Amino acid sequence: MTAKSAASAARATVYGYPRQGRHRELKKAVEGYWKGHVGADALRQTAADLRRSHWQQLADAGIHEVPTGDFSYYDHVLDTSVMVGAVPERHRTAVRADALDGYFAMARGNQEVAPLEMTKWFDTNYHYLVPELGPDTAFTADSTKQVAELTEALTLGHAARPVLVGPVTYLLLAKPAPGVAADFEPLTLLDRLLPVYAEVLADLRAAGAEWVQLDEPALVEDRTPAELNAAARAYRELGGAADRPKLLVASYFGRLGEALSVLAKAPVEGLAVDFTESGAANLQDLAAVGGLPGKRLVAGVVNGRNIWINDYEKSLSTLGTLLGLADRVDVSASCSLLHVPLDATAETDIDPQIARWLAFARQKTQEIAVLARGLARGTGAIAGELAANRADLGSRAGSALTHDPAVRARTAAVADADGRRSQPYAERTAAQRAHLGLPLLPTTTIGSFPQTTELRTARADLRAGRIDTAGYEERIKDEIREVLAFQEKAGIDVLVHGEPERNDMVQYFAEQLTGYLATQHGWVQSYGTRYVRPPVLAGDISRPEPMTVRWTTYAQSLTERPVKGMLTGPVTMLAWSFVRDDQPLGDTARQVALALRDEVDDLEAAGTSVIQVDEPALRETLPLRAADHAAYLDWATEAFRLTTGGVRPETQIHTHMCYAEFGDIVQAIDDLDADVISLEAARSHMQVARELAWHGYPREAGPGVYDIHSPRVPGAEEAAALLRTGLEAIPAERLWVNPDCGLKTRGWPETRASLENLVTAAREIRTEL
Ligand code: GLN
Ligand code: ZN
Repeated sequence: MTAKSAASAARATVYGYPRQGRHRELKKAVEGYWKGHVGADALRQTAADLRRSHWQQLADAGIHEVPTGDFSYYDHVLDTSVMVGAVPERHRTAVRADALDGYFAMARGNQEVAPLEMTKWFDTNYHYLVPELGPDTAFTADSTKQVAELTEALTLGHAARPVLVGPVTYLLLAKPAPGVAADFEPLTLLDRLLPVYAEVLADLRAAGAEWVQLDEPALVEDRTPAELNAAARAYRELGGAADRPKLLVASYFGRLGEALSVLAKAPVEGLAVDFTESGAANLQDLAAVGGLPGKRLVAGVVNGRNIWINDYEKSLSTLGTLLGLADRVDVSASCSLLHVPLDATAETDIDPQIARWLAFARQKTQEIAVLARGLARGTGAIAGELAANRADLGSRAGSALTHDPAVRARTAAVADADGRRSQPYAERTAAQRAHLGLPLLPTTTIGSFPQTTELRTARADLRAGRIDTAGYEERIKDEIREVLAFQEKAGIDVLVHGEPERNDMVQYFAEQLTGYLATQHGWVQSYGTRYVRPPVLAGDISRPEPMTVRWTTYAQSLTERPVKGMLTGPVTMLAWSFVRDDQPLGDTARQVALALRDEVDDLEAAGTSVIQVDEPALRETLPLRAADHAAYLDWATEAFRLTTGGVRPETQIHTHMCYAEFGDIVQAIDDLDADVISLEAARSHMQVARELAWHGYPREAGPGVYDIHSPRVPGAEEAAALLRTGLEAIPAERLWVNPDCGLKTRGWPETRASLENLVTAAREIRTEL
């Protein structure tokens, strides 16, 4: 095909659409089913109605080819496990008794069996259920769901393309089943899995699929030569099958690197590639491998992960370049639209000017359609859209929200010294010891105490106007008094106010910072039926007034012991929000850091001598490719140091992270220059303590001795045993005693008993030292 005919054939498509529906119908139906209010047929009907309405929305927006099979009751990786028959032994009875209940048993567990483990889908905030495989796994094809959903769409008259998790990514996302050797590599099952995929593909072909999409996002991560060979083999084999649809191998979340030439050579008919910022290198790489002669290229030019309008001129220029590199170029988002909220026009509280800069899933499908039209018929065919887009981008670039001169001047003036404490750790630790007068093995908690029904009711009452702010604040103060009284009585050394005023550790701060927007309906699936509403970092960030000082000082007024100030760190604020796409992440992080620094300094000035800055997202935001780690950790650690660098030597800075595997970022954790870190450790029997010691981590640390993910109360002896294990790795002068994480999801009875036991254990060990 010539470039001209490649252009005229341009079509608009997407890889997936938000599942929940405008009113979160899916969440309500699934949770209703779990509770027994909604029958299986009603649930199936809701699901079918949602799929129909989503395909219609896509078609109405001008999408030529709609995806099928991307819909899920819970998770598409779990759907894939069902499709290939990889049901763990422990779930078989439930699956055999009832397929739907068995499916949910795998997802959530039940009285008898534990669920599959859940983990993050690449570097997004979506969580998938990890397939459990072993040398004995026998795969069998079950194409029922895929075929049924394709048939639905075809019957409704749509041009439809089934979307499947590809076999290589599926295996790379799996882990050894319980009881299987930890070094078992699921990818060794590839030869057994491919015939099952071939069977599903044949079934889809028979059901009328012209194209099938196989998603291989794992190929944008660092892959070994053996893994790349496996990918080559997989697509040689699937491509070689006689009875198959055309294959579109999709990648997203970044650059394919070495995998690009593997896929370009594979006997498949099309590739889908990310050409947004994260995949920018794909453009040159594609030219370098000689393009995709004879193949279809689906170009992900609309960012599927953020919520900002596209830059049409930029996208059209990319698309224009691509025309010379493939047989046919289609237009899409960079990944499934699962990762963005449904519809920006639902946001009636956002300033209409700012609302014009937002593109959620529905707006993105319109953008894709406009770009496809522009590509097919020339820019003259989209002149109106181009002009409006240019005006919106211009208004964003020139807006006082996105460009606050005071914030810009302040970030530009940041000097190295601002991010440096006035004394090194080794010196200031003595000043802190003298100032705080803490015993060895000091006890503390991570911040939140149980968020009781009364607290949630108080917040709902305030929102509904049933109580006024003063009434609400009285309830918060009551709660703080109770939390303080308990901690004093239990004998905890460094107290917290309990965070009763916070709905969420990011949103609470976002609501108080200038430049941050909250959405009303911007729900995004986190896992299963759990949806979150990430706030939007829309403009330059500043802190108009103190955010937490009054609560911390109120708590401090009730006790002689030190009360810890409690903040969410800049990296976590970015990780759990939608970020700006018009400046580097590091610049946004620096603005947030300076706003938080004001809070840290105000807390100190108000008499707070211990301040904790939580960074649970530091590790999870690590880029997918190792080559990008250093640059990320550079700005991330700088932002933390900028937040905390202004305090006096005797003020103690804590940080907290909740994960047990972090060996690869110990140096970065040290670079934060915090005085004390608390980490999750109870379930791994203090493995983190050994890791810290192994890497020579020189600072104070509190590996958790109370697993807060379970209602179980650890006995004093159990906590003491964990502390003795911790002491083998960390000397007594540097060991803290605390739970794994905050207590907001726990009930009061188990919290009380557990913390009392924790104090007993610390006291007992102190007598042994
Ligand atoms: N300070 C927060 C709390 O205790 C920390 C939460 C977290 O680490 N995820 O709730
Ligand atoms: Zn935590």
